[in-house]
Amino acid sequence: MSRVYNFSAGPAVLPEEVLKEAAEEMLDYRGCGMSVMEMSHRSKMYQQIIDEAEQDLRDLMNIPDNYKVLFLQGGASQQFAAVPMNLMKNGKAAYIVTGQWAKKAYQEAQKYGEAVAVASSADKTFSYIPDCSDLDIPEDADYVYICQNNTIYGTLFHELPNTKGHELVADVSSCFLSEPVDVTKYGVIYGGVQKNVGPAGVVIAIIREDLIPETPYVENTPTMLSWKIQADNGSMYNTPPCYGIYICGKVFKWLKKMGGLEAMKALNEKKAAILYDFLDSSKMFKGTVRKEDRSLMNVPFITGNDELDAKFVAEAKKAGFENLKGHRSVGGMRASIYNAMPIEGVEKLVAFMKKFEEENA
Ligand SMILES: *Cc1c(COP(=O)(O)O)cnc(C)c1O
Repeated sequence: MSRVYNFSAGPAVLPEEVLKEAAEEMLDYRGCGMSVMEMSHRSKMYQQIIDEAEQDLRDLMNIPDNYKVLFLQGGASQQFAAVPMNLMKNGKAAYIVTGQWAKKAYQEAQKYGEAVAVASSADKTFSYIPDCSDLDIPEDADYVYICQNNTIYGTLFHELPNTKGHELVADVSSCFLSEPVDVTKYGVIYGGVQKNVGPAGVVIAIIREDLIPETPYVENTPTMLSWKIQADNGSMYNTPPCYGIYICGKVFKWLKKMGGLEAMKALNEKKAAILYDFLDSSKMFKGTVRKEDRSLMNVPFITGNDELDAKFVAEAKKAGFENLKGHRSVGGMRASIYNAMPIEGVEKLVAFMKKFEEENA
């Protein structure tokens, strides 16, 4: 068996330990004679799996008791609709548009109410985070929306926007559990787990209880998109994505063993610095993002020559570095270096880039 260094933006690399453990438990989960995939979600055994996953996530993120943790389906994209449906009491919200995912959320919200774009970085291909210290936010906006880490463009809100007292809603799909967060600064935190936490098919939403309406504000909201119904049923109004939640639970335990989110942050900063320091010193490769807004998770870079980019991606693949091609809307390269990417993966990638630069100078 040989494993590559997988720099995919998502679905993405998972801790090898977790995969091995899941493999060991595949046919017979802890003596029950069946796989977690085959188990009733109403069984005691499964209830323990989901309860433990929730508790471990609460421990890792220090989630206060007045926040609900929901394990949902439909990906982050489904929440683009669920957010306005459940939060637009006044029918209005402010969106900060820092990339394709934020834009999609903004456009989806327009279907259900008045979504106002209060800032954007579209003018420079989303290569920076706009100044959000004094935005013109409508008084009656129900929330301010951000995509905290922009997976495609490689930017991160290192500082949260000044929401001027409005609730903050954040899509954290690609920075989930990459560093500590102060949950109390947010009304809603949500993300698809397939970037940094688990297999596709699970989205986790952390929602302050008082923001969950008795019924959604949009008429005829599908039952499945009502946060209240999902919360009242412990994420089991219907069959949840059982196996995916089980894997997320294993990743939470792995993160705890690694020292929690402080330790992950230190490791992620170290990994990112190796790559960014090289990009800043290279004559061939360069990063595309304004320095102060650089993501710790997704690192886009270019040579400035499309043919050379393609050659690099092809040769890297041969050398065991997979999925380095940039998003189709940006071109160039992108290395996603999520929690589970070992530091050796980044070191070896940089060594390979150095060699490529020498050989193609
Ligand atoms: C990948 C991604 C999405 C879309 O996730 P789906 O689960 O495929 O809907 C949304 N937001 C961000 C930040 C992402 O990286």
